[in-house]
Amino acid sequence: MQSMTITKTADVEGTLQQIYALAAAGCDIVRCTCNEIEAAEGLAQIVPRSPVPIIADIHHQYKMALAAMEAGVHGLRLNPGNIRRPEHIKAVASEAKDRGIPIRIGVNGGSLDPELYDKYGGKVTPEAMVESAMREIAYFDEVGFDQIKISVKASNVPLMVEAYRQLSEVTDHPLHLGVTEAGPLPNGLLKATAGIAALLLEGIGDTIRVSLTPEPGGDRTKEVVVGQEILQTMGLRKFTPMVIACPGCGRTTSTYFQQLAQDIQSYLRHRMPEWRRTHTGVEEMNVAVMGCVVNGPGESKHANIGISLPGTGERPVAPVYEDGEKTVTLKGEYKRVDTSQGDESTGVFKANGQQSYDNAAYQQTNGLFGAPLGTHDADIFSVGVDFIF
Ligand code: SF4
Repeated sequence: MQSMTITKTADVEGTLQQIYALAAAGCDIVRCTCNEIEAAEGLAQIVPRSPVPIIADIHHQYKMALAAMEAGVHGLRLNPGNIRRPEHIKAVASEAKDRGIPIRIGVNGGSLDPELYDKYGGKVTPEAMVESAMREIAYFDEVGFDQIKISVKASNVPLMVEAYRQLSEVTDHPLHLGVTEAGPLPNGLLKATAGIAALLLEGIGDTIRVSLTPEPGGDRTKEVVVGQEILQTMGLRKFTPMVIACPGCGRTTSTYFQQLAQDIQSYLRHRMPEWRRTHTGVEEMNVAVMGCVVNGPGESKHANIGISLPGTGERPVAPVYEDGEKTVTLKGEYKRVDTSQGDESTGVFKANGQQSYDNAAYQQTNGLFGAPLGTHDADIFSVGVDFIF
């Protein structure tokens, strides 16, 4: 999972704040632009304080690649479309070889080598993008450098998918997937997911980056969350317990279960930085929030922990299942709490009597659907909305 800072790299503290936020969200590798000597100087201060490897993004000036390596970066991204002189490319590869620093050959449909653009009829084609990458590999081969990964990103999803397919036929180097300039939500999310997921399903791809345009001042970590969801949905990695929630239909008369599903999703994400350290394997869990008796008990039983809320005309109770066993039936009055604080003690869903919680799923979620372990009290829900059964 990769992402990229949006700050000026010379702004060391601002860039580090973004790196810390991205790392806390689960990002494995962060890329920073190195477009001027001040950026390289910033990298020299950023790299020792970063909790994740830092990649320097290089365009136009090969000397910035040399400066970034001198600053101690863990990897480079070179754009073959705008660093084209063979002697410059080989100088960077040679230095990277001596230092043991990997390079991503980052072909981009928006900055394709003009010569290749002309050769392929004034169009960006999969063949042109693959040829650009293979030319760069040939230069690297000349200096005996092979610590390479490759990307052939485009903003057009069918083009990008076909370029990666063709690339995977002609090289065994690791491939970094992405739909470039995917745009803001929701389109960016859909474009990135369509392109990346299609390739992952074919077994193509080793690292990913979801390139979303954030709102002005918006949260950069959204693209990490989207990337994690793609990998988790594909069954390739687990990051956060999976929330299974029904879409709702005419059998529901309130939006409670929708709100609850959203709140639980936020709550899980909020707690994961801590749980990752304290609750090994919690990301493997499934959590069900269901809206009525039709599929509610079934899905809840199949989850590690699940709740089946009452639909229209059903008895106003909500059974909770833990690892297939009904452990408590909730009823009563509850209201929404601030889940961003992640404080279970403020939960106000009232249980009907005292309960004992000693099952593993319950312990792992540290009281997702109830009071903290050991209190055995009446406060059962950690999240909720204003609603009375
Ligand atoms: S579980 Fe019930 S409320 Fe949810 S979609 Fe299915 S029938 Fe509708």
